[in-house]
Amino acid sequence: MRVYLDNSATTALDNDALKAMLPYFTEKFGNPSSLHSYGREALRAVDESRAKIASLIGAKPNEIYFTSGGSESDNWALKGAVYASKALNKHIVTTSIEHPAILETCEYLERKDGVKVSYVPVGKDGRVSPEAVKAAVTDDTLIVSVMFANNETGAIQPIKEIGEFCREEGILFHTDAVQAMDSQAIDVNELNIDMLSMSAHKFHGPKGIGVLYIRSGVRIERLIAGGHQERRGRAGTTDTPLIVGMAKALEIAVQNREENNRRIAALRDNFIDRVLKEIPYVYLNGGREHRLPGNANFSFGFIEGESILINLDLNGIAVSSGSACSSGSLEPSHVILALGVPEELAHSSIRFSLGRDTTAEEMDYTFKVLKETVEKLRSISPLFDSDKGTGSYV
Ligand SMILES: *Cc1c(COP(=O)(O)O)cnc(C)c1O
Repeated sequence: MRVYLDNSATTALDNDALKAMLPYFTEKFGNPSSLHSYGREALRAVDESRAKIASLIGAKPNEIYFTSGGSESDNWALKGAVYASKALNKHIVTTSIEHPAILETCEYLERKDGVKVSYVPVGKDGRVSPEAVKAAVTDDTLIVSVMFANNETGAIQPIKEIGEFCREEGILFHTDAVQAMDSQAIDVNELNIDMLSMSAHKFHGPKGIGVLYIRSGVRIERLIAGGHQERRGRAGTTDTPLIVGMAKALEIAVQNREENNRRIAALRDNFIDRVLKEIPYVYLNGGREHRLPGNANFSFGFIEGESILINLDLNGIAVSSGSACSSGSLEPSHVILALGVPEELAHSSIRFSLGRDTTAEEMDYTFKVLKETVEKLRSISPLFDSDKGTGSYV
């Protein structure tokens, strides 16, 4: 049996999205910037896709900017805001659990541009408090960037409260919503979001395409210079097939959102209950409330996460240890450490991310293999007998 439980890393392309894309690779291959009929045909598809995506997040079509994905959108939002500002002192407020696309952009801006950055910590449940975000803001704060939901723990952040506060203070508010698009209802006006990053391949769309939503009136510097595509916001020939596939995938995700969420959360909750009840020395990372429906993240005492991952993989089960981007390195996940989890337990964390194709049979099989794997690995672990008990972290 093959079981894919790594939907936070990427998702399978939806069949209808693929079908919608195909003609734009072949007979409808025109450049949307061309004036002839080939170009106009492609432009029509791009315009329709732009309007569709806009309506699904409560935005206007001319507030949607196509990018190569979540990483580019995150880079653009922060660098664009900093480089557009003439202020002498520039300050960014973000969190300690952001995706590397935000954290490394912040580090770059600190190093190269003398920008000050505050990294707001999170609680044991993996959430920032709106009060802590407010407390971090200074007179120099240019932009607040808080992710909608975390890719490792699934913790959904208090976006509405933070958006409200930023609006009152007149500070730009950006959110990396890459993990949230599939399952969360998002209206950029209701939530006072000024900029939002999304990535198609996290909601069953194609890889290599994303959006930065930019509220009209917000001025940021462009990152990619060249042609006049995207209303001069982002140069590069418009990728019609990927854009069409992304719009179709988002439409399908939104249509089936409630039903998928209920079904996926029920499978996930049942799995968490069984793991916590039947496998000793296991800890759920993050809280059970305000959590993406498909996310379960555990630490398994006395074993390395990588050993679990490899054993599950040998049995056809795909999961992730730490964050996919840093696996291969032996650094424990910065997100799990930020919850206050001790280092050895952070090393043993495994993320199961269920998706809309996940079945009850797959979860039964996964539970059975996981239980056997943990027992087997502990039986050969020198740490296990010598250090019974769980120490301070429960
Ligand atoms: C996947 C991911 C990204 C990066 O998106 P890409 O399209 O792969 O560049 C950014 N932020 C979060 C939260 C993600 O999960």
